[in-house]
Amino acid sequence: MHTKTLAELKTGLTNGEFSSVELTQHFLDRIKNLDSKYNCFISVTEEAALAQARQCDEHLAAGDAPVLCGLPIAHKDIFCTEGIRTSCGSRMLDNFVPPYNAGVVDKIAKAGMVVLGKTNMDEFAMGSSNETSYYGPVKNPWHTDCVPGGSSGGSAAAVAACLSPVATATDTGGSIRQPAALCGITGLKPTYGRVSRWGMIAFASSLDQGGPMARTAEDAAMLLNVMAGLDSRDSTSTEHEVPDYTATLNQGIAGLTIGIPTEYFDEGLNPATEQAVRNALSELEKQGARLKEITLPHSHLSVPAYYVIAPAEASANLSRFDGARYGYRCKDPVDLHDMYMRSRAEAFGDEVKRRILVGAYCLSAGYYDAYYNKAMQVRRLIKNDFESAFSEVDVIAGPTCPNPAFEFGAKGDNPVAMYLEDIYTIAANLAGLPAMSLPCGFVDQKPVGLQLIGQYFDEARMLNISHRYQLATDWHCQSPSDVS
Ligand code: GLN
Repeated sequence: MHTKTLAELKTGLTNGEFSSVELTQHFLDRIKNLDSKYNCFISVTEEAALAQARQCDEHLAAGDAPVLCGLPIAHKDIFCTEGIRTSCGSRMLDNFVPPYNAGVVDKIAKAGMVVLGKTNMDEFAMGSSNETSYYGPVKNPWHTDCVPGGSSGGSAAAVAACLSPVATATDTGGSIRQPAALCGITGLKPTYGRVSRWGMIAFASSLDQGGPMARTAEDAAMLLNVMAGLDSRDSTSTEHEVPDYTATLNQGIAGLTIGIPTEYFDEGLNPATEQAVRNALSELEKQGARLKEITLPHSHLSVPAYYVIAPAEASANLSRFDGARYGYRCKDPVDLHDMYMRSRAEAFGDEVKRRILVGAYCLSAGYYDAYYNKAMQVRRLIKNDFESAFSEVDVIAGPTCPNPAFEFGAKGDNPVAMYLEDIYTIAANLAGLPAMSLPCGFVDQKPVGLQLIGQYFDEARMLNISHRYQLATDWHCQSPSDVS
């Protein structure tokens, strides 16, 4: 049952081949048997899931079931879930049980999906390897001595190992696409504002965006259908109409122009990864798309600009964790100042502290213009690069990451080497553009991702191209050893 796609599981449920309770129990059993090996889940909500599944079965029998009724999902532990601990991968929120659901969690609940649990992640979504989680690293199901990518490594590994058919995730600088690439699944970061950020714990608010992770583009489209749309509680959420993302999946791609940025095939790109990506581009060409060399001249500035803007916003967002209102509080503080200092010192990990320090420094009076303002100017240049590229092409394609999954500890003492893993993903966040990653091959038996970057609100076209690619290839059908 677990090897079926979300679309196939929906058909199975509708035809009565199995019930939602059976389906849910099957995934819960897999989590029980396998998650000690992968560490994908921070919390498993077995009882609530089975109760929800029983209700879904009633709706399915009564014929009044909502669109994804009875189908299991896992939520990244960054999305607030009413009555369910939401840790954001941090000791700071180890004891935090939100009194409300995130906008996305609500929408998915309305669609009838059954929540299996909350997935592991880098602390406050800061990382590219899942090594910064308070709950320990997630293992890549393809190679358990390698990282799954981050920060949505728990969601990506859970989907890759078929512990859940789909999962939610978030992407501030690549955290949906990079782990999707490293785990061999399909992940989509929507246009900024497409998916509600309400109740999604903030890292860098002008960059954060939630999106779907799935094994196929079709499943990602089904999930995006129910995640997207206006939420008046998020002031950056947009009224832009939500199309049915599944309706255009099958359209031919002949005549589309795909831009290939020279800068995404630089000397930092692993040659075998490049080969896999070039093969994928040839397949798209075979289907009638036209490949056109383009240039995004400020690409090399995206990582430095991001590592000013993201920490700046993080330092402001994380100031609310002070030991007073909620979250961790140190034992026996001698006074208020001691409580602030020790609560934050004891509950935040090293990477989070590094970002807070960098961010506070960049925003400080003497340095604001030199760093933050400068980074914001660079951000505009990067956005302009994309705007001029999109006057000539329909979509942009290249690698998602420069390398396949690396071993634990490989970049542990070198934050900059870690930051460079996001070199191809960050620009889309700075520009607010939608982008996705889909499996396109293997290097040393490790999955490689093809990245597509779309025009604003053009998620449907990226999903269409991905679906057509997946109809012609079977990279997305390959699975790691525990899946069979
Ligand atoms: N790896 C990047 C970082 O560490 C991006 C993380 C993300 O997208 N949440 O900030």
